[in-house]
Amino acid sequence: WEDVLRNEAAVQEAARVAVDAALLAGVLMRTEGEPNASDVVNYAPFTLLPSAVPSALFEQAYAVQQDFNLLVDAISQNKEFLERTLASIIKVDDFTARLFRIYVQVLEEGLAQSVFLGINRSDYMFDCGVDGTPALKQIEINTIAASFGGLTSRTAAVHGQVLKVLGKSKEASRLLPNNPSKGLALGIVKAWELYGSPSAVVMFLVEEVQRNIFDQRCVENELWNRNIRVIRRRFRDVFEKGSLDDARRLYMDGQEVAVVYYREGYVPKNYDQQNWEARLLLERSRAVKCPDIATQLAGTKKVQQELSQPGTLEKLLPGRAEAVARIRATFAGLYSLDMGEEGDKIAAMAIADPDRFVLKPQREGGGNNLYGEELRQVLEKIRDSPERTSYILMDKIKPQPAMNYLLRAHSPLQVSECISELGIFGVYVRQGKEMVMNKAAGHLLRTKAIEHADGGVAAGVAVLDTPYLV
Ligand code: ADP
Ligand code: MG
Repeated sequence: WEDVLRNEAAVQEAARVAVDAALLAGVLMRTEGEPNASDVVNYAPFTLLPSAVPSALFEQAYAVQQDFNLLVDAISQNKEFLERTLASIIKVDDFTARLFRIYVQVLEEGLAQSVFLGINRSDYMFDCGVDGTPALKQIEINTIAASFGGLTSRTAAVHGQVLKVLGKSKEASRLLPNNPSKGLALGIVKAWELYGSPSAVVMFLVEEVQRNIFDQRCVENELWNRNIRVIRRRFRDVFEKGSLDDARRLYMDGQEVAVVYYREGYVPKNYDQQNWEARLLLERSRAVKCPDIATQLAGTKKVQQELSQPGTLEKLLPGRAEAVARIRATFAGLYSLDMGEEGDKIAAMAIADPDRFVLKPQREGGGNNLYGEELRQVLEKIRDSPERTSYILMDKIKPQPAMNYLLRAHSPLQVSECISELGIFGVYVRQGKEMVMNKAAGHLLRTKAIEHADGGVAAGVAVLDTPYLV
């Protein structure tokens, strides 16, 4: 968009159109000042222009999504693998240990749940090789509360209008339609049907602070449109009013719950003692949890690192050599910091060259990773302590930056050097041992200024975007 970027008057005009179009289309967030009321809302941050995405890599990301769905599902059913992979982590990381305890406890009691629903998002960046060719590299897979499938279904229309205002209607017509919220909802519908109780509701397990409610409402509305009742409750509500009957059916305020869709519960600060008890109650129930606790554990960074070890994928997906090859092609270098000679070598390698790596704890939600000088300092401090095993080390992906404007309420309009992260939503439903749905459900492109190493849209760093395939 070089011609556009140079024309300041055109950019100013397009930005005004863009913001109003976003508000009209429902690209909305509640404000920081009033996070739990819809009296005052604003637009969710987004780019002025769609960002270029290599079409071959875009297709590759879609093509591997069903494989990732199968993989996550296989891990969630493999107790031996989860136990062995997380053994070192649960000794040093209290949060993962508590999740793991619930996992073991519900398995020992015997699962009441027989229908399983996975909604995940596999995130990638386009790593720029020495010869300049970009390669698709996975950042992580989110198996709980993967967000922005709703709001992003509305950004293509906004960007289409912006391009038209800028005299690029041909380019506008090339933007792809995208509706993850519908795909996610169809997974929930399937799980609800298989649960088999027509009067039962779907419960969205939501945060105390609900700034991103409109994103969730997009999925909710798809369910209401299909005559499925949706209720929104917090852990606190479950603690106070949730109960199980003899068959471990879950009831909230007297209503049977068929599906629990978590948009909360992935960071330690979501839990106090009562919330842990509420989580245990939900996990023990017959309701379809999206995700169940095993699938949440399958999304930990330690599992991601273990998957990159030679032979691991083959064991988890026996007889699926092509799926294994497609998955492996997206892996960046991942390294264990477990105690021992190998871990010592890895720690020394990272300390010597910190800019080549990212140091990741077992946390979700952005803003937790360590880079550069900070990585070096932290690793130096813990290099001889078991604390280091709570982290994994990953090669840093280095995408080619591009210029764009990031539109954010109350911020001046200025051009930034940006990089993008592509996410593909996956949805699957399993009944007993049989996979009854396995799909890619749409995509999310997020873009941020290069000066931020970390952080997503909710963390206030990245903004919503639309891919423009090149
Ligand atoms: P979280 O679970 O907190 O979202 P991520 O692994 O997605 O953790 O990392 C957060 C952000 O940090 C990503 O959105 C990306 O911008 C950046 N990041 C993570 N891993 C890498 C990497 N290997 N190379 C470059 N940037 C990375
Ligand atoms: Mg992430």
